Amino acid sequence: MQQVNQPITCHVCGGEWFYEVTLQQYASMYSASPGGDIHPISTTSHQIRICICGQPFQPNIGGVRSGRSGSVSVTGVMESLKKAVDSRAQVPSMVSKMGEDVVSREEFASVVQALTLQMETLGTPAAEAPAEKPAKTTTKKSAAKAEPAVPATEEK
Ligand SMILES: [Zn+2]
Repeated sequence: MQQVNQPITCHVCGGEWFYEVTLQQYASMYSASPGGDIHPISTTSHQIRICICGQPFQPNIGGVRSGRSGSVSVTGVMESLKKAVDSRAQVPSMVSKMGEDVVSREEFASVVQALTLQMETLGTPAAEAPAEKPAKTTTKKSAAKAEPAVPATEEK
C-alpha cells in the first residue's frame, strides 16, 4: 500500500505533478450556434489526473471521483482510460516502423548522383544523333533518359 502523503507518479515519465480534467460523454447534433453541436449527455462527470507529459494516470477504480449514480459510468471511464493508455503505448513502435521505410539523406543523394551519372552517359550518344532524324531522336532521347530510373531504384 502507498503511504498517505507519498505522491503518485506517472507510469511513463515518473513525474509527480498532474492536472485534473473533467470527463463527460458527449453527443453531436446539428446546431447553428458555435459549439452547440456537441453537448454533454452523461448524467455525471468524472475527474482524472493527467501528467504534464500527457499520460493519463490510471488509478484504481476508487481513484476516479464521480458524483451520485456514478458507479456504472466509472467502468466506462476506466475502459476509455485503458484505451487511451494502450493507444499511447503503441506510438513508439509505430514511429520506429515508419522509420523503416524512410530513405536517408545520404541514400537519396547517392541515388540522385548515380542517376545523374547514367543520364549524362546516355545523353552523350543521343545528342549526336539529331543530324539523321531530328523528330524520332527526340522521343528516343527522352525514353533513354526515363529508363535508368527503374533499375536504379530496384538496386536498393
Ligand atoms: Zn508523465
